[in-house]
Amino acid sequence: MDLSRLNAEKLIKNLHAGVVVYAPDSSIIYANPAALTILRITNKQALEHEAFDNQWNLVDEFRKPLSVDKYPVNLVIKNKTPISNIELGVCDGSCEEITWVLCNAYPEFDENNNLAEVVTTFTDITHQKQMIPFKEIVELANDVILVTEADPIIENGPKIVYANQSFTKLTGYHLDEVRGKTPRILQGPKTQQTTRDKIRHALENKQRVSEQILNYKKSGEPYWIDMNIFPLKNALGEVAYYAAIERDVTKMKQYQAQLKELTIKDPLTNLLNRRGFIESSKLALDSCIKNNQHLTLTMIDVDHFKQINDKFGHESGDLVLQSIAATFKSFCDGNDIVARLGGEEFCIVSPDKSISSVVKRLAKLQDFLKNNPVELPCGERVSYTVSNGVSSLTSEPYTLQNLLKNADKALYRAKKIGRDQTVVFNENLYGTDIKEED
Ligand code: GH3
Ligand code: MG
Ligand code: MG
Repeated sequence: MDLSRLNAEKLIKNLHAGVVVYAPDSSIIYANPAALTILRITNKQALEHEAFDNQWNLVDEFRKPLSVDKYPVNLVIKNKTPISNIELGVCDGSCEEITWVLCNAYPEFDENNNLAEVVTTFTDITHQKQMIPFKEIVELANDVILVTEADPIIENGPKIVYANQSFTKLTGYHLDEVRGKTPRILQGPKTQQTTRDKIRHALENKQRVSEQILNYKKSGEPYWIDMNIFPLKNALGEVAYYAAIERDVTKMKQYQAQLKELTIKDPLTNLLNRRGFIESSKLALDSCIKNNQHLTLTMIDVDHFKQINDKFGHESGDLVLQSIAATFKSFCDGNDIVARLGGEEFCIVSPDKSISSVVKRLAKLQDFLKNNPVELPCGERVSYTVSNGVSSLTSEPYTLQNLLKNADKALYRAKKIGRDQTVVFNENLYGTDIKEED
């Protein structure tokens, strides 16, 4: 069909879509009736015979006022390229409601390829926008939803602009208390710096990030969240906001910690088990070697423990083991690693303690045991002694395995020469397998 036969003016006047034609200096040359309605302006305002309502402006899809240089017409004038399907809101002082429009704009050029006009078209999508109540959905979501502005990330930003009800329920903060503040107010002394750095790095690069992080409630109580932060772009492709969806994982973290505890602790004595002992001791050993510090390892075995079981029963034997564990703990300080390696065999790793200080302490322990028999519920008193084998970083290789092997040799020697004593491993005496001495 030959479209030139159509009356263009009539067609445009009757369109439901708004059409505005601008001159290259961005002044309006023409606006159809639909455009005037959608843009909430009069024809006189459009043609600049009358001033605009001073609250008139365009907002992006997140209701943030758009700077004039980002108005579609100005972008087309600047870039000389079309833009399509940008979602914008039109506001003015006469009404709280925003008219939402889908906007397209393209340049027209004259025969010399100079910009002649910019044509913009708008369709009203307010009704569609209102169909799904996203605001309510977000407000009532079980997960915390927090929205911040995109900038600035350094200094005190980014600023919180929105937090839903779950945020208040979890943290105790109302939106009014945190609006304009940075989410960093939720971080505290035990929030891991590495996690903070990862988040900041992602935000600086306008990337998504998922992390588990320790935060603090208004009351000061800590809580763990699993957090997904993602950038929200406006219609012009610029990151305008960050939204964080956060799930409270405090209970799961506690459960994981309990599970971890079960794998490294001896349930009878509550001391570290062999696995927990190896994990902790290796770390302590690495640190001592690195810092050129002493480290002394003591292997302790209860003498004739089988006789205690035989005389008083296995249950009483258990009580004695618990008492032994408590006594060992009381002779140690927070730096010592105290473990039950199995049966009635215990081990203490003492970082930054010399052999002589450990030997002195063991002598005191032996004295204490002699004077403090374990009292059983039946009233019986159980006396026992221990034998100790001590090793330290005197012979290479400086590995936990070697320390254990040497302490075991010393312990064997202590048993051999009469029990109830401490033997310190010595390369010259015990360099070969001492069992061959028998
Ligand atoms: P020695 O002086 O040579 O170390 O003699 P001992 O009797 O202590 O050594 P032995 O290794 O022959 O016996 C250790 C005993 O510890 C045997 C075992 O019944 C007992 N035992 C191991 N684990 C437990 C436990 O969890 N509870 C109780 N009650 N006894 C245990
Ligand atoms: Mg024993
Ligand atoms: Mg034993």
